[in-house]
Amino acid sequence: MTVDVSFPFDNSYARLPERFYARLGPTPVARPRLARLNHPLALELGLDPETLASPVGVEILAGNRLAPGSEPLAQAYSGHQFGNFVPSLGDGRAILLGEVVDRTGNRRDIQLKGSGPTPFSRNGDGRAALGPVLREYLISEAMAALGIPTTRSLAVVTTGEPVVRETVLPGAVLTRVASSHIRVGTFQFFAARGDIEGVRLLADHVIARHYPDAASAEQPYRALFERVVLRQADLVARWMLVGFIHGVMNTDNTSIAGETIDYGPCAFLDAYHPGTVFSSIDHQGRYAFGNQPRIAIWNLARLAETLLPLLSEEPETALAWARDALGDFLPRFSQTLLAGHRRKLGLFTEHPEDAALADDLLETMAANQADFTLTFHRLGRAAEDPDADAGVRRLFADPPAYDRWAARWRRRLADEPDPVARYGRTRRNAMETANPARIPRNHLVEHALDAAMGDDDFGPFEDLAAALRAPYDDQGVEDVFSDPPRPEQRVFYTFCGT
Ligand code: AMP
Ligand code: MG
Repeated sequence: MTVDVSFPFDNSYARLPERFYARLGPTPVARPRLARLNHPLALELGLDPETLASPVGVEILAGNRLAPGSEPLAQAYSGHQFGNFVPSLGDGRAILLGEVVDRTGNRRDIQLKGSGPTPFSRNGDGRAALGPVLREYLISEAMAALGIPTTRSLAVVTTGEPVVRETVLPGAVLTRVASSHIRVGTFQFFAARGDIEGVRLLADHVIARHYPDAASAEQPYRALFERVVLRQADLVARWMLVGFIHGVMNTDNTSIAGETIDYGPCAFLDAYHPGTVFSSIDHQGRYAFGNQPRIAIWNLARLAETLLPLLSEEPETALAWARDALGDFLPRFSQTLLAGHRRKLGLFTEHPEDAALADDLLETMAANQADFTLTFHRLGRAAEDPDADAGVRRLFADPPAYDRWAARWRRRLADEPDPVARYGRTRRNAMETANPARIPRNHLVEHALDAAMGDDDFGPFEDLAAALRAPYDDQGVEDVFSDPPRPEQRVFYTFCGT
């Protein structure tokens, strides 16, 4: 008797009309081998890790066998890529296997990425190389551990088949888990075809799935858009608070549920500078670190355009409502960002000059090539012990520039109530929950990928994945996973790898 992996599938997207997707299964691969399984995530999904790691489980994760109840499909979507509208994108190398309701009652998509060609593949081969798959695994799981909404990574299977990019690379399939894979571009797909009924069905699906409280609002579609705007604002603010650069904020890479999705040439800042760009294809710096809030607004405006016919029969009214809701982005973004900066600076109370204090630190860091993560992390120690300033000022090209800012910060801290007496925790302890010691630094990620791909050595990948599971929990200790790159380790470009 064969033991089958039982996924408790309940496939709501597959119940939408046929024009929303193409029904097809993954294309089998030659020699599937499990490279990584995310045990805690499997358990969260109500799946048995042992069974998933068994030969039958690995066949499912490779796309060589379908689990019972799976209704595989490739989703249709469009998207603005670097500002240009592409009406037909869609899952060109991914297959949605189905949806499961997890242990906490949340519906999650189970998708294979790199699972073979689909009707949306255009000229692509439908496959993924091991490097970008491991990269997505590491960074998406690091984001989750940092507490930032994101798609998750359940497993990596190598295929035993080569994929041809600039060079010949080992192929792999990623099992991706998301609260859904619906994108701004999914709305654009229907709007671009004049299919208002499609937009309406999709909006109803998204309300039921992601924004159920919008259903009972007086204007559910208006409430939907307002909520999407706020979630994007929160998401991008949280990227800014950890130094994350998405790298390809196209509308097809913007999740309607407000999760970070489609990890391509994304990267974390080492030295802080708002103009930082890593993506080798972002020649104009459209998706530079500091541009991310502006781009999110631009993407949301594209979403608004698709929703206008649902908002009101009166075009003027629809437009006014959409503008109103879009206008909520910046205040919400600034509010989330400022609350985050206060936590990062150890401020428990609110003072009108806090935003300027944070901005001036960032400006000083930019002028001094200071490491973003370590500067904030080390401020935790400095908050309690001025002798620890030495560790922070070392990060600044001109250390006295830090001293001038630190004097202001200390005057501000002196106005605060005693945190232990008032809030029951030390300032340093509070700051360490806002300032990670470990992020997936580019040089560490590259090293892990090179070892896996070049030498079939997954040790560095395993070690890095393990370190990134607890980004805040370092007891004040810095290790190789917190160190910025030495000059010869610096990474200047990251690649999509598609
Ligand atoms: P991405 O850059 O991964 O967000 O992908 C943009 C679009 O290109 C999506 O429609 C993908 O499905 C498609 N795509 C990317 N790589 C491939 C590939 N190797 N084969 C087929 N389609 C691909
Ligand atoms: Mg994409």
